[in-house]
Amino acid sequence: RAKEAGKGIFVVYDKSMHTEFKERMMIEKHLRSALDNEEFELFYQPQVNLLTGDISGFEALIRWNSPDLGFVSPLSFIKIAEDSRLIIPIGEWVLRQACHFMAGLCRQRYNDYRIAVNISVIQLLQDNFIPSVLGILTETGISPKCLELEITESVFMESFERIVDKLEYLQSKGIRIALDDFGTGYSSLSYLQQLPISTLKIDKAFIDPLSENSYSQSFIKTMVSLGHEMGLEVVAEGVEDRSQLAFLKKTGCDKVQGYLISKPLSQRNTQDLLKRYGHDMV
Ligand code: C2E
Ligand code: MG
Ligand code: MG
Ligand code: MG
Repeated sequence: RAKEAGKGIFVVYDKSMHTEFKERMMIEKHLRSALDNEEFELFYQPQVNLLTGDISGFEALIRWNSPDLGFVSPLSFIKIAEDSRLIIPIGEWVLRQACHFMAGLCRQRYNDYRIAVNISVIQLLQDNFIPSVLGILTETGISPKCLELEITESVFMESFERIVDKLEYLQSKGIRIALDDFGTGYSSLSYLQQLPISTLKIDKAFIDPLSENSYSQSFIKTMVSLGHEMGLEVVAEGVEDRSQLAFLKKTGCDKVQGYLISKPLSQRNTQDLLKRYGHDMV
């Protein structure tokens, strides 16, 4: 009996691994042609400056509508794109698209906005990453100060020195660097002071329990003052209700992003939003 049960468990385990593998292979196969087939679209989620209540910029977020697989979340395909290195052409497309969008906003005199773009460590490690970024800035004509690259703590786990050098160089050109999902990684706080960053993005995981839990209030207060002590801008992600917003305002957090303000929007809906509100979002 025990033997049978053991075998059964093994079979189930094996099958689910097999299914997961097949799913990954399928996603990878469809990813290969997605760029050429124009299946990606960029959405934009507004960020609001809590001091003024104005929209200060947007985070660009990729969307994939595959004719065969339907809508696939970036949470499911970015990792696969990284493992297959497809993230290099995809990431370059994202950056170019986002900068063109920003250039369009500048032509409509919305020129004090900033666009934030998520960058994978695979892109950063690539030799021509810097020329590619600078090339896209020249090509689109946007000012480097309008661009913010979002990275996560995990990028520093590989080739720390090389990554730091590259980020410092980009910063010297006026491009901003944001540390995304802050507080969820494994790096120690002592690292933080060595990192060439301009913005801290407090992860949604700290914002979610805000109303029920006084520890998370202390965490956030600490992160905001730490960021400010270090001369960084502090942004809170995943703000979903008014009480969270009120608390963040009170602590002096600089900016917020989240469903309370707006979900990520298509380019067209972003334009409409700007026409309707322009300023004064909160
Ligand atoms: P992220 O960079 O931390 O982006 C924030 C995610 O939280 C987005 O999910 C956004 O839609 C979602 N979000 C924002 N506000 C709220 C809220 O109030 N409530 C909830 N429940 N969610 C909120 P999304 O677009 O599914 O992206 C997931 C992750 O995929 C991103 O996390 C980022 O790590 C990655 N990603 C997305 N686009 C790109 C890209 O173009 N390149 C790379 N390398 N990664 C990307
Ligand atoms: Mg991000
Ligand atoms: Mg994040
Ligand atoms: Mg996140």
